[in-house]
Amino acid sequence: MVRKEIMEIGSLAPGERPHAVMIPYPAQGHITPMLNLAKLLHARGFHVTFVNNEFNHRRLLRSHSADTLRGLPAFRFAAIADGLPPSDREATQDIPALCYSTMTTCLPRFKELVVKLNEEAEASGGVLPPVTCVVADSAMSFALAAARELSLRCATLWTASACGFMSYYHYKDLLDRGLFPLKEAQLSNGYLDTIIDWIPSMPKDLRLRDLPSFVRTTDPDDIMFNFFIHETAAMSQASGVVINTWDELDAPLLDAMSKLLPPVYTVGPLHLTVRNNVSEESPLADIGSNLWKEQNAPLRWLDGRPPRSVLYVNFGSITVMSKEHLLEFAWGLANTGYAFLWNVRPDLVKGDDEAALPPEFFAATEGRSMLSTWCPQEKVLEHEAVGIFLTHSGWNSSVEGICGGVPMVCWPFFAEQQTNCRYKCTEWGIGMEIGDDVRRTEVEAMIREAMEGEKGREMQRRVQELRESALASARCDGRSMRNVDRLIHEVLLA
Ligand code: UDP
Repeated sequence: MVRKEIMEIGSLAPGERPHAVMIPYPAQGHITPMLNLAKLLHARGFHVTFVNNEFNHRRLLRSHSADTLRGLPAFRFAAIADGLPPSDREATQDIPALCYSTMTTCLPRFKELVVKLNEEAEASGGVLPPVTCVVADSAMSFALAAARELSLRCATLWTASACGFMSYYHYKDLLDRGLFPLKEAQLSNGYLDTIIDWIPSMPKDLRLRDLPSFVRTTDPDDIMFNFFIHETAAMSQASGVVINTWDELDAPLLDAMSKLLPPVYTVGPLHLTVRNNVSEESPLADIGSNLWKEQNAPLRWLDGRPPRSVLYVNFGSITVMSKEHLLEFAWGLANTGYAFLWNVRPDLVKGDDEAALPPEFFAATEGRSMLSTWCPQEKVLEHEAVGIFLTHSGWNSSVEGICGGVPMVCWPFFAEQQTNCRYKCTEWGIGMEIGDDVRRTEVEAMIREAMEGEKGREMQRRVQELRESALASARCDGRSMRNVDRLIHEVLLA
């Protein structure tokens, strides 16, 4: 019945199709999974309006051809202002400022957009459908409020990990239990090792330091800490919660989430669910979500290198580090003697310093190093030459690492990356952690162990098991696509 109803959407006249307005939080790690979910809904016959902030809309225009963003018959891009001063920097916007601004200024603009789309539909004489539902990023809860006010069905996409969700959701209990805010001394006196053994489904030896990093402050009014309390509570306004994971990976956490939230739909790993369920002939297949211009030289460089011989290093779209840490990583990598592909974004170093590396480093690694500024990461991680992934542990990178069957050495930067790292190291057995204050000797030793040591072999075995379960979930008859259909039937069309 579900199947039949869904199959019939595709045969509806364009103006009668369900119309989903989808809005990601304005950062790379949110836009990519939301666009993937949009492709799946479009493949099932939905008309989609995909809403970026104006800043990222311009960035997408610069990194792709203008034609891409002009949209397709049943797929349009739109943009709203985020309330921050205009900028054309090739970098992620300031996250706390963006969170505060979207949370406090976007509701009326989003509602205006929906009203405008409905007016356009009205004027189109049956060519464009009116808006029927909203799919909002869980960090954009104003769009859920808008959907409620406009009587539209709505679902929310949690783009981060399940362990991240459970942690943020319990931030308020840290306050109630007097564990937050921290006193100045507690930032460095071992207090962060306090055991947090009361979050359902999470390890009994979880430490405060394993929770998303926004707890590490003395400011009770910290924007990020309070933002996540607000946004995770607001998720209950949606009729369904979509998450980019799969049941075998996160069963206990998902079970706990289902007790706190509206029905939860696992659709991950989203990039593979899309690959297996969106036809290559779909005009949407080629629409990319990268905000940086993608380079292909790294893939060519990997071709022909021996299997599992290369170390891949990428800290995602937001991580910044000091010049000193950049050099520690550089010399750590150089001293391993392995070949490595390192993605160094121009804004990787904090402040105004260019992420410049010294000529001695290039001389020492000549012939075995490749530096890029933005590479096609999913493909890189699937390349047989890649043996280890040195990562900041963003959720998308972590999922892509598992799907590539690549063990990880983790240097979490912020947010729930600390929690993802903890899960990779102790719960899933596919990761090793480098200390905050990174030293070249540690980088070298850990990478050697991960590449050739006993621990590395064990991580390799575990990551292959998880990879198999990921591939099975994402198959075209797999659970993730079935859950997309349930989401459509139970929430978006209900
Ligand atoms: N990414 C990429 N090429 C790069 C760096 C990153 O394609 O050179 C993609 C990566 O595949 C992932 C996303 O950017 O899908 C980063 O998201 P993640 O959640 O890992 O981290 P964030 O950037 O949000 O910290």
